[in-house]
Order: sequence, then C-alpha cells, then structure tokens
Amino acid sequence: MNDLDIARKVTLKPISEIAQRTGIPIDSIEPYGKYKAKLPISLINKEKASKANLILVSAISPTPAGEGKTTMSIGLTEGLNRLGKKTTVVLREPSLGPVFGIKGGATGGGYSQVLPMEDINLHFTGDFAAIEKAHNLLSALIDNNIQSKTNSLNLDPRTISWKRVVDMNDRSLRHIIVGLGGTGSGIPRETGFDITAASEIMAILCLAENLSDLKKRLGNIFIGYTFDKSPIYARDLKAEGAMTALLKDAIQPNLVQTIEGNAAIIHGGPFANIAQGTNSVIATRMGMTFSDYVVTEAGFGFDLGAEKFFDIKCQSAGLSPKAVVLTITVRALKYHGGAPLSDLKTTNTEALLKGIPNLEKHVENIKQFNVSPVISINRFLSDADEEIEIIKNIAKKLGVQVAIANVWEKGGEGALDLAEKVIAIAEKTTSDFTPMYQWKSSVTDKIETIATKIYGAKHVDYSAQAKRDLKKISDLGLDHLAICIAKTQKSLSDNPKLLGRPKDFIITVREIEIAAGAGFLVPITGNIMRMPGLPTHPSSENIDIDENGVISGLF
Ligand code: ADP
Ligand code: MG
Repeated sequence: MNDLDIARKVTLKPISEIAQRTGIPIDSIEPYGKYKAKLPISLINKEKASKANLILVSAISPTPAGEGKTTMSIGLTEGLNRLGKKTTVVLREPSLGPVFGIKGGATGGGYSQVLPMEDINLHFTGDFAAIEKAHNLLSALIDNNIQSKTNSLNLDPRTISWKRVVDMNDRSLRHIIVGLGGTGSGIPRETGFDITAASEIMAILCLAENLSDLKKRLGNIFIGYTFDKSPIYARDLKAEGAMTALLKDAIQPNLVQTIEGNAAIIHGGPFANIAQGTNSVIATRMGMTFSDYVVTEAGFGFDLGAEKFFDIKCQSAGLSPKAVVLTITVRALKYHGGAPLSDLKTTNTEALLKGIPNLEKHVENIKQFNVSPVISINRFLSDADEEIEIIKNIAKKLGVQVAIANVWEKGGEGALDLAEKVIAIAEKTTSDFTPMYQWKSSVTDKIETIATKIYGAKHVDYSAQAKRDLKKISDLGLDHLAICIAKTQKSLSDNPKLLGRPKDFIITVREIEIAAGAGFLVPITGNIMRMPGLPTHPSSENIDIDENGVISGLF
C-alpha cells in the first residue's frame, strides 16, 4: 500500500473532536471544512507553554530522498501519546515545488502521517497563497514607485534585491526582465522569481510573535538604495499595513490530526538551506500551550536546520528543547561511506562503517549545544540486521541512547522504545541549551563559529563581493542580526561532493544577503537554489483526480 492508500483507510475524526481531546476550546477554533481548523493566536498561554517539553527531531546529512524526520516526528508523537504523555506534533507546511518535483509532499509516510494528506500537500488553508500575495504586493509597490513621478523615493532600480515569488519549481522564472512595453508599462529592469518557501515573508511569519511584531518585521524588509545611496525599507513604501492585512489568517496555525487521531499543528514552511527551516514560533507555542510534549522538526541535517533552530528560532523566542532525536538511516550512512545512490538497498557493512564519521560529527554537534541526543534508526524494509547491530554498537561506544524506530511500518507502536528513551532524557534535563554564538558578536565571528565548530571547516574565505556586503551591513547598522548560512544539505561542507565527515576544508562565502525583517543575515556559500527546477519526469506526471474527486499519485 502506498502512503495515500494508507491515509485513505483512516476514518478521520471531525476537527472539533481533535480540538476537544487536546483541551482546545472548541468554540474558539475556526474550522476550514471538516478536518482542518485555524487556531486563534489568543489561545497561546506563554506561562503554560513554558512548562511543556520541546523535542527536536533532526537527522544526519541526508540523501536526496530525505531520511524520515517528518515521519519520525509523527511516529514519535503517536508513541508518546500511547505512553500517556499528551503530545502534539508541530510541523511545516509542504511546498508545491517538491510535491510536483522529486521529493513529494511533507506529511510523513507509511503509518506515520498527518491527515488529510491531500489537502495539506496541496493548498491546505491558503497560507502559502497569502504569503505569496503579501510578497508580490511589495514587488508591485516597488515597481510602481519607480514609475511614479510625484511619489518617487528615488530608488535605484539596479540595487533592488526584492524579487517576486511563486510556489512552483519553475527555473525559467529565475531571471526575468520586467517593465517592457513602453513608458506606460514601467521601467525595464532585471529581476526574478524565488519559490514562496524562500520568501523573506515566510521567514518573517515563522519568527513573528504576534500581529504587531509581524507588521514591524515586514516594515523592516530591506529593499535597496536610492540613487544617493540611502537605504530603502518596506516601511518607506508604507507597505507593511496592507501586507499584514493579507496575512491575518495565515499567521494563525492550522490544526489537523495524525493517523492515530492525535493533534497535529502545521504552520509555515521556510526552507532550511536559505532560511530557518522550521515551523512558526506561534505554532510551537500553541502546541506547547496544550501539551506535555511537543515534537517538532528542523529541515535537512543537524548542521543546517537544527543549528538555525537553536541559534535563530530558540534564541529569538526563548525556547529550549529538552532532547534532540537524531534520525539516521542505514541507506544514508552507506551513501556517506561511498555506496552509490542507486545501490543503497544492498547490504554493505563496509560502506556503512565508512559512513559512521558523519553520524559522529552530528552527535558531537548536538552535544556542543549542551543538549542530549537520542539516535533513532529509521528502519527500512531493506535494512539487514547486521547493519542495525553495527549502528547500535557504535551508539554504545559514543555513550548515546539509541532506539530502532519502525514508525513507517507500525506507527506509534514502532516508536515505543524511542518514546521511553526520549521521556527519560527530557524528564531529567533541567538546563537550557547553550547557543553557538551570541547575536551581538561581530558578523565574521558568528559565521566563523558556525563554520568551524558545526561544519568542521578549517577557516572561512570571503569573496570580494562578500567583503563589500560586510561593509554594507556594518554601514546599515545590522551587525547584531543572527546568521542564517545558506549551504548545501548534502555535505557538512559547502561542497556537495564531500561526503562523510570532511576535514580541513575551507568555507567560501560568496555574498551576504540581508533579511532585516526576518532578523538575520544570509551568508551564501556554494550555489544555492532559491527557485528549483523540475526533473525530466516530475512527480506531477503521476498525480491525477477521478470524476468523484479522488486524488491519486501524491506521496
Ligand atoms: P524528511 O522529513 O527527513 O525529509 P520524510 O519523513 O518526509 O523525510 O521522509 C521522506 C520520504 O521517505 C517519505 O516519502 C517517506 O514516506 C519515506 N520514508 C520515511 N521513512 C521510511 C521508511 N522507514 N521506510 C520507507 N519509506 C520511508
Ligand atoms: Mg520533513
């Protein structure tokens, strides 16, 4: 059975029943159909939320298929609920790019899924559309202002960094010329499209504490310079009020359910390579208001999503996870040990052993944040017992708890051992995590700390452009912002070909973008795609709907 077949066999509970079981007052929820609801921000109780245990699910450096963090987060949630801990899984919303591209949706898999998966993976409650509109409103205001004779901010079109967004993998929109068609149709200039998940508005929505904080952050978006070199922000265009109005529903988290009928909150979807890669602060707090445990995920490997989770999200919102579940797969370890992507199902203990240093580095990194790791082996049907044994022995040597989690095949039942280990660690953890850096340090110190301590680099090189950007950041007085390094997820380094645990490498910062609204700087290493393309055979070729409205081909 595929994911969609499994999902369709489940009899969904009305969303009011899920709310009631979770202790959410049912007359406060805003239903979107039968099985989805928006949760008003006013339901958040910071005091109550501060008592809940936050568990972060991360992974080793992933293969392109993903190592199962979402699936693990959902399965662990089912397991914790089975053990009597009231637990909510809090996740990101899927982007249509991967849904129609290679990877597929982001609602888990097998018997660990959030439902209704067709809705969540397609338009859901319209949050992405609202973010897209708010983003493109600002783009339209910028081009309108350049065109205006009476209201001109004197914006130099060549300095505008704000692009447009659409939630689609569409490489032909990466570089475009707008304003063609004569004097009545604007001033021609080069710009482009990013995918919506890469929008700064997505990052902002996910870090905002409430509507007024959202509005303030939107106003702080840096756009470009005037011809006499003064910076222009969104607030100079009086854009933030209308943009916030467009986001009034999108800022509210979405309540859905897991296969086993537990609450799931899904909200926001920033990428983890160029943004903070985790659901909204508001959604996390909402979950923590109504639960003993919240299980959440940060995108890609620990070096990317989880570092940002701690240093950006947790530092900004005052959260502190009680444990990190490090999801690992036999296939990814073999891949890091040199086995080809096409042959990860064959038993290969030699490659597996060679791949272990990648695991070791991620464990070290978790410990650097002063948080306890639990290694969770995401069991695949093709895994050999001897391969699993090797990993268990390595974990023992590292002194780290390890559990085999068979959540894909068995749902919550497959996560009981993991859930017990997570509870044991969470209940004895009393200290907060230690951040990698203080926001107030210098920009280069912050970048170099992440690169050397987390990635394992020897040192950091800055291109001429990056050096100019450092000066610009300092002139704008933005040195105090957090750092959100854009890097490949395929390697601990900035070179996707360096697998395992690369050593003595140099991280090269090409340029540094400013996300002043989100509150971070984005040093760009390597070639980072903000507008992916579709593969030769996109997964959309297999997606269909019949005359009864039954969808097929989603995964
Ligand atoms: P991540 O969140 O780390 O990117 P996902 O949980 O989305 O990973 O899983 C990626 C894909 O792998 C999904 O299609 C999921 O159904 C599948 N998957 C995850 N775990 C397993 C497993 N143990 N066996 C088979 N397929 C799995
Ligand atoms: Mg995921």
